[in-house]
Amino acid sequence: MARFAKRVLSIEPSPTVRISELVTEMKARGEKVVSLAIGEPDFPTPAHIVEAAKKALDDGYTKYTPAPGIKELREAIAEKSQRENKIPAKAENVIVAPTKHTLFLTCMALLDRGDEALIPDPGWVSYGPMVTLAGAKPVPVRAADEDGFVPSAETVEQAVTPHTRLLMLNSPSNPGGSVYSRDAMRALADLAADRDLIVVSDEIYEKILYDGEHVSPASLDGMFDRTVTVHGFSKTYAMTGWRLGWLVAPTPLFREIVKVQEHTITCATAFAQKAGVAALRGPTAPIEAMVAEFRARRDLVMKELAKIDRLSTDRPSGAFYVFPQVDAGLDSATLCERILKEASVAVTPGSAFGEAGEGHIVSAARARSSIFRRKVLIPTRHLMEGGEASTASPRDSRGRGTPPTMRCR
Ligand code: PMP
Repeated sequence: MARFAKRVLSIEPSPTVRISELVTEMKARGEKVVSLAIGEPDFPTPAHIVEAAKKALDDGYTKYTPAPGIKELREAIAEKSQRENKIPAKAENVIVAPTKHTLFLTCMALLDRGDEALIPDPGWVSYGPMVTLAGAKPVPVRAADEDGFVPSAETVEQAVTPHTRLLMLNSPSNPGGSVYSRDAMRALADLAADRDLIVVSDEIYEKILYDGEHVSPASLDGMFDRTVTVHGFSKTYAMTGWRLGWLVAPTPLFREIVKVQEHTITCATAFAQKAGVAALRGPTAPIEAMVAEFRARRDLVMKELAKIDRLSTDRPSGAFYVFPQVDAGLDSATLCERILKEASVAVTPGSAFGEAGEGHIVSAARARSSIFRRKVLIPTRHLMEGGEASTASPRDSRGRGTPPTMRCR
């Protein structure tokens, strides 16, 4: 009989799995499902990046590279960090790895049993489990609707204990689409300095920004030495399947983190790293076009959502999700299941993103505008209003026959 490690038994399977299993079952039955549950741009990787990878394969980039990455890419990342983010990074501060893995490397290198890491609530689904897998305790910090999905320094301070080691920040954020202001970031940075915390700044949505400015905490006075910045190619360049990202860390942290890379994945895929250089040094027009399309979709979605009676949602300033609050008399998992079954649209329950995410649904703006309107918004709206997209008799979690409604703040 297999026995399992406590650290893995102590993490829950993803609550999104149920929805994706249902999608798979429905597709297998030949049903047409629109899936808005995946955080992935529905654009191809730009051609010049694909060409660079093909050339790299032809040129024999098929072997191990140095563990932190090829020099050319580390230099391109350091230059980008200096130029665009004002982070005083050198190539020697950069480790190339899939973004998700950079977070895991950081947790493994910096956290011990008994340590605590502060994570935004709602926040991306993997922060908590990664902290747990590293043996430490994730401590959610409420950053919900009333906070504009930005953790305030005051709330963070209340959660700090003598065991707190890390503060995870994510701007633009998943799922709230919030962009932390310079003042908010400065206040969080000051707190981290006061309480001797390491900041882990997940900036993967940096370029998917509609309003405000992107502020990297590592650029703020005195912060480079206590910040690990993680970033990647998945969202900006529509490269989710390439598994390529990076982290920037000050030398003492770099030295420990890179050991975990050496003993886990060794290095990132060689030819993908060459493609990464092409992405960072190549034309920016494809990114601008993609972000313009995401912005148009956000505006359309906001316009359509405003028509749904008693729905509340803030306008996302970045990333490509909408995160409306619903008071449907159902928990968010049940609501999402019903939206899937009755309107054939897969969205993610807010509860997957933390306690403060309950009562919300998460939808990625993945479909083209007309499809989104026709296939998603209109049937979902009818479902919410107890209309024709709803084939089953609407029931809430206590089995009462009331139709779900959406609440206005
Ligand atoms: N951080 C956030 C906030 C994300 O949303 C994601 C992906 N959904 C990641 C990190 C991981 O990115 P990747 O797939 O490139 O590893």
